[in-house]
Amino acid sequence: MDKVNILGIKVDRIGINDAADKIFSFLSGERCAKIFTPNSEIIMAGYKDKAFADILNSADLLTADGIGVVKAASLLKKPVPERAAGYDIACKLLEKTAKSDYSVFLFGGKPGVAEKAASEICKKYPGIKIAGTRNGYFKPEETPDIVSEINSSGAELLFVCLGAPKQEKWIHENAGKLTAKAALGVGGSLDVFAGTVQRAPDFYCKHGLEWFYRLMKEPRRAVRMTALPKFALTVLLRGRKFEQ
Ligand code: UDP
Repeated sequence: MDKVNILGIKVDRIGINDAADKIFSFLSGERCAKIFTPNSEIIMAGYKDKAFADILNSADLLTADGIGVVKAASLLKKPVPERAAGYDIACKLLEKTAKSDYSVFLFGGKPGVAEKAASEICKKYPGIKIAGTRNGYFKPEETPDIVSEINSSGAELLFVCLGAPKQEKWIHENAGKLTAKAALGVGGSLDVFAGTVQRAPDFYCKHGLEWFYRLMKEPRRAVRMTALPKFALTVLLRGRKFEQ
C-alpha cells in the first residue's frame, strides 16, 4: 500500500472510510492484524526508539492521527487524504460490524469505563455484539489470563485502549496469541464512547486545533504537547533524509 515515511515511521496514505473497510476485511483473515493510529508524539517516540519504530512499522495498518502528522505528510510531498483518527475509524468500524455477525471486545480504561462504553455503543449501533469488556489496569503477569478471556469471548474485533505506547506494545506482544482477527490501539476512545471524556467540538477538529481544546481541558498535557513543536522542527530539518 502507498505509504509516507515520516521520520522512519511508514504511515499509510489512507482515509477513515478506506481504513475501516480494510480493517473489516481483516476480520475474515487467518491471524490477528495490528492497527495503530500514531499522532506526532508517537512518531517522535518511534524516531527516538528504534525498537518502538519497529513495532509501529510491523503494523498491518498505520493511519495518520493528528494535524501534525497530516501536515508532515504534505511537507514530504506525499499527502494523506485526511486525518484518520482512531476514534473516527472505530465509529465507522462499529457501524459496519453492527450489520455483520462479528463481535467486538473492549479492553482498556478505568474500571467501569469499558462497560459504560459497551452500553452506549449498543444504543448508538443497534445490532452490535459486544463479546466482552475488561478494564486496562493490570499487572504484567495477568496478561495471559486477559488474552484467554478475550479469546474465549470469541470476538473477531478487539479495541485496545491503554494509551500509547502501552497499547501498541501490548498488541505487538500478544497478537500471535490472540484469536481475534484485528486489534486496534485506539487510546482514549472508550472514554469518549462512555461519555467520561468529551471529544473536541467540530470547529476545533476542522481547523486542526483539537490539541488546543485538549490542552484547555487537560492542562497536565502541556508537557506531553511540547512533542508537537519538536516534531514539526524535526520533520522540517530531517524529514527529507528518510527514503520515500
Ligand atoms: N489506560 C489504561 N491502562 C493504563 C493506562 C491508561 O487502560 O495502564 C487508559 C486510560 O484510562 C484512558 C486511555 O488509556 O482511557 C488513554 O489514555 P490517554 O488519554 O493518556 O492516552 P492517549 O489517548 O492520549 O494515547
